[in-house]
Amino acid sequence: MKILVIGGGGREHALAWKLKQSPEVDQMLCAPGNAGTAAIGENVPIKPNDLHALVRFARENRVDLTVVGPDDALAAGVVDLFRAQKLRIFGPIKSAARIESSKIFAKELMRAQKIPTAEANTFSDRNEAVRYCEQLKFPVVIKADGLALGKGVIIAPDAATARSTIDAMMNEGRFGDAGRCIVIEEFLRGSECSVHALVDGKNYRLLESARDHKRVFDGDLGPNTGGMGAFSPANNWNAELEDHLGKKIMRPLLRGLLEQGITFRGLLYPGLIINAAGARVLEFNCRFGDPETQAILPRMKSDLLPLLEATTDGQIDNYTIEWDTRAAVTVVLASGGYPDKYETGKAISGLDEVEKFDDVHIFHAGTRRSNGGIVTSGGRVLAVTALGSTIEAARARVYEAVSYIRFENCHYRRDIALAAVTDKIDISH
Ligand code: AMP
Repeated sequence: MKILVIGGGGREHALAWKLKQSPEVDQMLCAPGNAGTAAIGENVPIKPNDLHALVRFARENRVDLTVVGPDDALAAGVVDLFRAQKLRIFGPIKSAARIESSKIFAKELMRAQKIPTAEANTFSDRNEAVRYCEQLKFPVVIKADGLALGKGVIIAPDAATARSTIDAMMNEGRFGDAGRCIVIEEFLRGSECSVHALVDGKNYRLLESARDHKRVFDGDLGPNTGGMGAFSPANNWNAELEDHLGKKIMRPLLRGLLEQGITFRGLLYPGLIINAAGARVLEFNCRFGDPETQAILPRMKSDLLPLLEATTDGQIDNYTIEWDTRAAVTVVLASGGYPDKYETGKAISGLDEVEKFDDVHIFHAGTRRSNGGIVTSGGRVLAVTALGSTIEAARARVYEAVSYIRFENCHYRRDIALAAVTDKIDISH
């Protein structure tokens, strides 16, 4: 089979790497890909938002299955366009992708189906939003309705910050159209967990749990990033929560979507907050997480290809997924300055040494080939994953591997998965 992966980050390298192991796959294409995907297949110079060029390419090159990485291509309707041309593609259609691309849509669905989530109100009028904030207990969470590159969520500690955030979103257009309407919601306390599910419209299969690290610096300090690391399994997840997830979140959600005539087929992952009351939904995502995917897929023993095909065909109920019981820890190496301004084009060394390590995988994100070597080309440059018999063992191994990799102004967190080793997670808040 000929497979096309849309996207060019660490998540897409991990997907392409895993799919390439399938005995069914003889050709792997990635649009636009990076230096890592170039080593296992062929990169195609088409941007993920150039939907018509992607469709044309898949048709002309007889691609058998396309797998979509990024959320914005899904929100723009890439799956609908492929389907209209009878091309097979893994991911939700545009109306189903709204579960991520509109926080208001997601909130209304959760409210209608009584899915546990933060109490919230939605606003399209600035004055009403400000008036509402005046009677709230702080902190509150203010969210732009639409996609805002992961930056559209602000935790406001007081009324003045709330007012300036509302103005920035609704009056000054800081997130463009994404912030014209907003959600204001209660701040939830607890620990976070990501659970990925392959959803075929009616049924689903969970992947192993994971947790990510969003802040740029150790100790969860500094601004939010796309994600600086992850580990799997999550140390705050258990069978009881899995049961709760099925009964209170996944089943009602799929029922609510079907009631609206929407069939969700693809990867759905709720971001959850866990405390003594159980799990509540912070958000729904409609695609694989980055960097959670880089921690989860090295633990998957099953062939990923038939699972994606079964999801697309509405047949996931016939499958079980086999897992490696070992833990995985993923550390992201970023360019100096990221998530703000950073330079690119820095030569990367040490990759060959790390390739020789057992149970360590290097997933490329912002990299490209240049004059026979590999140089940086983005904010998040590499995601390095190690497996180990425990989280502690995986942590030791990943940091040993990372110590070999060098590029100018490289920075990474030293405390990925540390809390999972040193803390007993307190879910009694
Ligand atoms: P979202 O894009 O909605 O997941 O929000 C991004 C991040 O903001 C989450 O991963 C949480 O860390 C935080 N967050 C979002 N909503 C809330 C909430 N209601 N209470 C506390 N933290 C939140």
